[in-house]
Amino acid sequence: MEYEPTLGFAKAQDQADPIGSYRDHFHFPQLNTPEMAYFSGHSLGLQPRSVRASVEVELEEWAKYGVEGHFHSTHPWYSYHELLTPPMARIVGARESEVVCMNSLTTNIHLLFVSFYRPTASRYKIISEARMFPSDRYLLETQAAFHGFDPDDAIIEVGPPEGEWLIRHEDILAAIEQNADELAMVFLGGVNYFTGQLFDMKALTQAAHQVGAVAGYDLAHAAGNVPLALHDWDVDFAAWCSYKYLNSGPGNAGAIFVHERHGEDFDLPRFGGWWGHDKDTRFQMKSGFQPMPGAEGWQLSNVPVLGMSAMKASLAVFDAVGMPALREKSERLTGYLEYTIDGLAGEFPDARISLITPRDPARRGSQISINIAGRERRLFDDMIARGVIADFREPCIIRIAPVPLYNSFEDVFTFGRVMRDLLRNSP
Ligand SMILES: *Cc1c(COP(=O)(O)O)cnc(C)c1O
Repeated sequence: MEYEPTLGFAKAQDQADPIGSYRDHFHFPQLNTPEMAYFSGHSLGLQPRSVRASVEVELEEWAKYGVEGHFHSTHPWYSYHELLTPPMARIVGARESEVVCMNSLTTNIHLLFVSFYRPTASRYKIISEARMFPSDRYLLETQAAFHGFDPDDAIIEVGPPEGEWLIRHEDILAAIEQNADELAMVFLGGVNYFTGQLFDMKALTQAAHQVGAVAGYDLAHAAGNVPLALHDWDVDFAAWCSYKYLNSGPGNAGAIFVHERHGEDFDLPRFGGWWGHDKDTRFQMKSGFQPMPGAEGWQLSNVPVLGMSAMKASLAVFDAVGMPALREKSERLTGYLEYTIDGLAGEFPDARISLITPRDPARRGSQISINIAGRERRLFDDMIARGVIADFREPCIIRIAPVPLYNSFEDVFTFGRVMRDLLRNSP
């Protein structure tokens, strides 16, 4: 696609954008800054305007029905999570029996590790990526230690070659081969939070299976961002949160995927709670845990309805737009950001701006991370003060997410204009 560095070009793109009107379905922050361009959908998605009414329904029903709302409200709370399953399954390319919304992300991965990380004395290693999100790293360390292994021995981090940022696919495959006999699991972030690199989950899952290991993914930065086909890729398990690209609100419930192949394996060890217990006998309150078939059999607790009512509204937006249309715009919009950054890098060679995210659209979602060695933090703080909201990570990385649901080409143009001002005026 041909881009131009002008406001006229950006506006024309927005006018021709088939899903451009969805921008009006969101609240944009009012921060009293000169501009407003929000690029932090990778950390906290904006609030869909429809969320408030959806939450209010449940507040009213709670006031009206009290405990009777579990069965007699408009969307009975007893089975409220079931409303979220079909749209969530569509987002990640799963069958409905393979997905359930519950708990929060790190909690869910620990629960899934109970079932899928069952190391033996000889097969106990986990391959993961360097620069994992810290919560995942702590999770791996404590899981390894919990099973009596030295984390430094059990966790194999595949990193980029010296002096580079991106991990080579063939290096992960090589690590799988080298550790074939000792490998218990491949566990990666589907999209790395730091670099925005999208991994080839289909090929990695296949490679893990070939050596007798399982493959699991943290999709916090992938769900609602890139096309996923978890069922067809034969992924064993996955988990993700709903508050980043899925716009369900701060700290809201997450979701899990358990492949159909495992969903009715009742011999898998798991931690039980009443909400994972067979529905027909749940309220008999007897001993003897009998898990439900499918992902629902990993649930523990009854449903946090207020949060899930926000999620219900946010997922409805995804159903209205559909992942193919989102992806199509995402590639164009992210491409425009890349083009804009390349323009700045050319115009201000002394600023040493470089892109660390893959340039191949097939290897990234809607995030571009840039390295601004030297003047990073101040430039970033100045950006925020001007109203361009992105994210800073040590040592010198700015992560910018142009989210196709609510960001426009004009937002990207604004980013370029503000950066140009700042670079011109900073020593
Ligand atoms: C955002 C994120 C988390 C956050 O975990 P919570 O349990 O929801 O606090 C974990 N892992 C990754 C990869 C993330 O991007």
